[in-house]
Amino acid sequence: MYRTCTDCGKGFHADESWKVRCIDCWRRWKNRKEQGKNQDTDTFFQLLKAKMRIQELESQIQRLDSEKLDGMFFGNDNSLENELVERMRSLLSLVHPDKHGGSKAATDITVWLLDIKEKAARNPGRHGAA
Ligand SMILES: [Zn+2]
Repeated sequence: MYRTCTDCGKGFHADESWKVRCIDCWRRWKNRKEQGKNQDTDTFFQLLKAKMRIQELESQIQRLDSEKLDGMFFGNDNSLENELVERMRSLLSLVHPDKHGGSKAATDITVWLLDIKEKAARNPGRHGAA
């Protein structure tokens, strides 16, 4: 049967009733369809790669979180830490080496308290203002 191509408008001989494009237009149409499939595949793999990257990052975050918890000087129970931080100013003024004739014990405790204060300042989310 004789038909008009839906793409280019030229007349062509269709040997099957479902053919609506001339052979040239059909080839172009088929190529476009294949390219579309490839793009779908690309998108799929990009999505897969992104998902794997997210999983990788999530496990890294988990690992860092557990390392951070391991490094906490009072473990998960931070109530003692909180108390120390709250009373830090008083403690530091009480144990100041100047008030104890520069004693080694006073110096040691001051250094220890300053260390706690510094660690607490690095994790402000755990106990509010230091
Ligand atoms: Zn055509």
